[in-house]
Amino acid sequence: MVQNRLPILPLGDSRLREKASPSPDPANPSVRAAANRLLGALRAFRKQHGFSQGIAAPQIGIAARIMVIDPGPGPIVLVNPEVRWISDRTVCSWESCMCFPSLAVMVWRADAIRVAYRTLDGSDAVLASESADVAAVIQHELDHLDGILLLDRAADTKSIISREAYAQDPDTFDRMCRGQESSRAAHNP
Ligand SMILES: [Zn+2]
Repeated sequence: MVQNRLPILPLGDSRLREKASPSPDPANPSVRAAANRLLGALRAFRKQHGFSQGIAAPQIGIAARIMVIDPGPGPIVLVNPEVRWISDRTVCSWESCMCFPSLAVMVWRADAIRVAYRTLDGSDAVLASESADVAAVIQHELDHLDGILLLDRAADTKSIISREAYAQDPDTFDRMCRGQESSRAAHNP
């Protein structure tokens, strides 16, 4: 079956490494147009690959600070997001990225975060993560706005595996994460 080409830039494209600029006027129609392209790309990617809870504008070659979070009830578009508070407690989990969808990477993220942002009608809003999973998605997408990729967050090369291997034996890999958590707790009681 021939699959439609997705607009997601692949790992190696230099645009993924650029720091995106804030949108001076979040209510400008060009921002809404970019947001619609992001929503479309997220939907198409999920249809093809069956995962992803967020996307950031640099992933489709738009160097603007716009991202979409969609962990469940419906997508939230964040324009010019800024971290207002971040937890100093961290958790370990396996994440993937649309730019290199065949990999899973073990990373540490803060377990909670609060970000201020502008909505598409230009008003101010605040998003607080409701779970560590959502906090991780927010941090992943914020990283994209600064040209930082999931692979940069891997503790070592053993923390990078194929999604296929993870899917075959998630318990073993999740135990790897929990083992890290307990050794870290022992070091930092
Ligand atoms: Zn990503």
